[in-house]
Amino acid sequence: SDAVHVIGAGLAGCEAAFQIASRGVPVRLYEMKPKKYSPAHSYPGFAELVCSNSLRAARISNAVGLLKEEMRRLNSLIMREADAAEVPAGGALAVDRYAFSDGITAALRNHPLVEIAEEEITNIQPFLEKYTIVATGPLTSDALSESLRKLLGQEYLHFFDAAAPIVTRESLDFSRIFAGSRYGKGGDDYLNCPMSRAEYEAFYEALIHAECVEQKEFEQDGVFEGCMPVEVMAKRGFQTLAYGPLKPVGLTDPRTGQRPFAVVQLRKEDAAGSMLNLVGFQTHLKFGEQKRVFGMIPGLEQAEFARYGVMHRNTYINSPRLLDEYYRLRERENVWFAGQMTGVEGYVESAASGLLAGIAAAQTIKGGPLPEVSDETAIGALARYVSSSASADFQPMNINFGIMRPLDTRIRRKEERNEAIAERALARVERIGKNESTV
Ligand code: FAD
Repeated sequence: SDAVHVIGAGLAGCEAAFQIASRGVPVRLYEMKPKKYSPAHSYPGFAELVCSNSLRAARISNAVGLLKEEMRRLNSLIMREADAAEVPAGGALAVDRYAFSDGITAALRNHPLVEIAEEEITNIQPFLEKYTIVATGPLTSDALSESLRKLLGQEYLHFFDAAAPIVTRESLDFSRIFAGSRYGKGGDDYLNCPMSRAEYEAFYEALIHAECVEQKEFEQDGVFEGCMPVEVMAKRGFQTLAYGPLKPVGLTDPRTGQRPFAVVQLRKEDAAGSMLNLVGFQTHLKFGEQKRVFGMIPGLEQAEFARYGVMHRNTYINSPRLLDEYYRLRERENVWFAGQMTGVEGYVESAASGLLAGIAAAQTIKGGPLPEVSDETAIGALARYVSSSASADFQPMNINFGIMRPLDTRIRRKEERNEAIAERALARVERIGKNESTV
């Protein structure tokens, strides 16, 4: 019988493979790890979270919270395992990255309809004759990138992102640091490094003059706003960080009883909280410079860096011109793309695109109806945005309410309005689920 060939066992590929197999269609899942690792991957398991361990906001009045809830209702493997591996993080869904990856890896390896092939795919040509989903991510290996470039032509693009450093808890100076979330929401999930004005000034000066990694291509391609390096943001103005990721609002330093001038927040990376990332500190400073400059943050003087912030490539295709709303190549009815390569941005968004592409591939093989892609749902709105954005300069996109269909009625309060959009979406997702299960 026909199988679907899924290339890449990341966030998108794993979700796609699971959706296909769940519908009774066999899958062959190709993954180059552990034989070969991208510059950002290091763990042999599937669906590796290469940077933050947060899947972002939990509540459905936030668009990524809604997206996650829609996915749960559509039997998402990524969400099932994220919920099982949850670690406390205030209003966010953060996970123990290893438990998360292990759960997903086991589910797929043990599935009777999933066959795993540990190999790097270097040539797309043989796959054009098969049912194929390409989900090799922002760090698609060079050979496959080249092969895809030949297939797709000029419209193939890429740019660069930046990732935050991680420090060990035991190396921190707790005489300066205090635990707590902004306005007391979420208990003690964050650690806070308070800065006086003088400390902030010294840090700011060091940061804007620190030495960066060579980044020619990065400069050419520009910085994506959602993942701006901390030093680039700092250069926008003295107060930019203090009003941005270092804003002190809702926090009181128990040592002084005062609100600090600025606060660097640290978030747990693992369930034990032995690793912490510097929230908002994605960077392309040289490693030595990271140690020197970030070591000026109160409490981090002796910090041990479990991982430095890194620069990375972000490979993505010009989806509005290439894909339909099921993430399928318009020119080839048997080939889909999924994940960050399609220009969705983020872990959850990548998995969501894999979910839809996977359903579409399985239904195509079974000859069943495809689910309706609606801009009333977050999953559908994302697919529609990616496949039809009118912008000449197509940019990767996180899910947001702005790309969903507005309500017919006017609701003044934002929170209430978003809740109403979310309720409408969830009702719709339930209908999609029902329709399709009658196939
Ligand atoms: P991936 O999860 O990267 O999966 C692709 C898989 O394909 C990998 O396992 C890879 O080994 C494999 N592969 C690649 N080439 C081949 C080949 N030729 N043959 C076989 N297998 C291959 N998003 C967030 O929401 N939060 C963050 O903090 C965040 N940080 C990021 C940091 C970095 C350094 C990068 C690169 C991206 C980050 N992203 C982040 C963006 C994005 O959400 C993640 O990259 C996400 O993992 C994308 O999912 P994916 O399934 O598209 O790709």
